[in-house]
Amino acid sequence: MSLEDKIRKVEPYVAGEQPKVPGLIKLNTNECPYPPSGKVKEALRLLEEESEKLRLYPDMNAQELVDAIAAHYGVDPERVFAGVGSDDVLSMCFLTFFTGGEEILFPDVTYSFYEVWAGLYRIPYRLVPLCSDFTIDPEDYIPADKGGRAPGTIGGIIFPNPNAPTGIELGQEDIERIVSANPDCVVIVDEAYVDFGARSALSLTEKYDNLLVVQTFSKSRAMAGSRIGFAIGSPRLIGYLKDVKFSFNSYTLNLQAIRAGRAAVEDDEYFREITGKVVKTREWFAKELKDLGFEMTQSRTNFLFAKPLFMDTNELFLRLRENKVLVRHWDRPRIGDYLRITIGTDDDMREVINIIRRIKGED
Ligand code: PMP
Repeated sequence: MSLEDKIRKVEPYVAGEQPKVPGLIKLNTNECPYPPSGKVKEALRLLEEESEKLRLYPDMNAQELVDAIAAHYGVDPERVFAGVGSDDVLSMCFLTFFTGGEEILFPDVTYSFYEVWAGLYRIPYRLVPLCSDFTIDPEDYIPADKGGRAPGTIGGIIFPNPNAPTGIELGQEDIERIVSANPDCVVIVDEAYVDFGARSALSLTEKYDNLLVVQTFSKSRAMAGSRIGFAIGSPRLIGYLKDVKFSFNSYTLNLQAIRAGRAAVEDDEYFREITGKVVKTREWFAKELKDLGFEMTQSRTNFLFAKPLFMDTNELFLRLRENKVLVRHWDRPRIGDYLRITIGTDDDMREVINIIRRIKGED
């Protein structure tokens, strides 16, 4: 075998760009347009005074953060696992729960990192096509002997709720049907965008010990730069997840992230304020886009998935870019006609509307 043959080759995830262009309206990675809570700033300032603590390794359980998350959601800390963003948590979940040699299932249009982790960890998978209106049909995830349409056995299931990039929410009864019909595999619900008006499946984790809910501080808590994510599930699943994490890299969350994360989760009032503002802007912006000639899905997230009916989508993407508005466009089957537009401040979105009007020649 040559050196090349001995190397693990993977197709990496392509994240949205982070260009440093002055004046850019950056609506391509679903970040929050508002700053983190003032309590986060205060926690980091206090930590500065204790910077000698950085000499030591951080708490490998991130217990202070785990306890704050557990208290906030009213669950036992044994049911909480924290990681370096939900990407880290999800990656550990793939490594821990999807190993049976049976195919795992996820939608054909979804968070594209799932396919990357499946490739990295050599997990067989099957893409389940969304319906033509981009909704998930729960029957596609239910084995035939339970009355559903999934062929063969199922090694595991993962989907975001709301889904990304479609923004569409799957109802609680549908999630429960998928989870209850699959007691022999782990079902992961990636709730990265749940705080913008969707319902969390968190309460179902008390009833079903094969369900894991994963959330992030990157969007609704305005902390993408701190890299904090967490999973909530049965103590059994969380225990297995910790065993794998401690076999991979024990010290993941650093002291700053632990302190800042705790402060963020404790400031519920601010969290409600900024998520409420984003939802309000989204609803206004959706109406404006419709009036301009876009078709879109019903988003319960901090972005819209919108298709211009008046011009070619890629051309609009490029024209927006020329005008210093960066959104996301995938040249892929089924979604090539759509743009994913993150919700920014009211001023950002007003400017985007004006720019689209100019591109259309209406101004
Ligand atoms: N899940 C989904 C569906 C996402 O869109 C993202 C953001 N790219 C993530 C997980 C990861 O977010 P983070 O690692 O910042 O928590």
